[in-house]
Amino acid sequence: MAKAGLFAETLLVNGSAGDPVLYLDYPDRDDALLLDAGDNSALSLARLADLTAVFITHHHIDHFIGLDRIVRANMDREKTLSLFGPPGTIAKVVDRIRSYEFQFFPFQKIVIDVCEIEDRTLRRGHLDCGRRFPPPVIEETPRTGPVVFENDTIAVEACAADHTVPCLSYAVIEKPGWFLDQAALQKSQLKPGPWIGEILSRLRRGDDLASPVKIDDGEFPWKAIVQRLFRRSTGSRLAFITDTAWTETVRPQLLALAHRATRLYCDAFYSQKHADKARQHRHLTAQQAGELARLARVEELVLMHFSQRYAGRYEPLLEEARTEFPGATAVFP
Ligand SMILES: [Zn+2]
Ligand SMILES: [Zn+2]
Repeated sequence: MAKAGLFAETLLVNGSAGDPVLYLDYPDRDDALLLDAGDNSALSLARLADLTAVFITHHHIDHFIGLDRIVRANMDREKTLSLFGPPGTIAKVVDRIRSYEFQFFPFQKIVIDVCEIEDRTLRRGHLDCGRRFPPPVIEETPRTGPVVFENDTIAVEACAADHTVPCLSYAVIEKPGWFLDQAALQKSQLKPGPWIGEILSRLRRGDDLASPVKIDDGEFPWKAIVQRLFRRSTGSRLAFITDTAWTETVRPQLLALAHRATRLYCDAFYSQKHADKARQHRHLTAQQAGELARLARVEELVLMHFSQRYAGRYEPLLEEARTEFPGATAVFP
């Protein structure tokens, strides 16, 4: 039976109180996504090497300091890593990469495709390790809609936030179609492996369910495996909104980005009693995060990016958000 819901593994790497970093992955495919590039030292280099795309909100240090580990983890991968961010991202990434001395081993083949997102324009530059990172040639194309990245299972939308520097918010849309039910896989005795990707490709192609499926050393009836472990999704949306003021300028686009999201991860840097500071530093209060979630009619709200000034006293922030959105939650690793 088709159902909605997120099928990606979602990991708020530093919980609600650390740098906001969200890792999204589908098992056994090198197609993980990273939302924001703050401190990611809690993620192994192997997990970072699975990344296919990174979406940076802005260049404040708590959202950008993790770029070095991302580059390091992917240097010897023969792939193109897509990296998105607001205007200025290409020059900043070039500066960071060219600040290192590289030995340029032949197995280091990474190409980093950096894309700057503006309202009406996308600007791209390729950083090619195999060619020893020459200054990138910049290509500019008109932007025709909210989507900035797309593959066969997901699409990513971006819109401008209202922060002290150019800043973006993002939404990841899982397209309708077949996904692995990770909870069901964990309950089964089966180990993740290439068979997951093979079955998903066959399901997405609409292959018939006659022949048995080979998993490790065993053969399993196709229909039973599909019924047990795979679900047809009606599609879902995950929104990631951080470092923005709650102003008339951006309210419509943030509400559109989060509209009916399955889950919204949202900045709750300040308490409402510091609303003046929130306005000054262009952040949301916990109450505003709750209001945004309520108005956008999201299903779940996860608060993040709590200011360190509330360390050890985060519960009132949750209570504040719950006055607007009763189901608000936070993550404490
Ligand atoms: Zn910031
Ligand atoms: Zn921040």
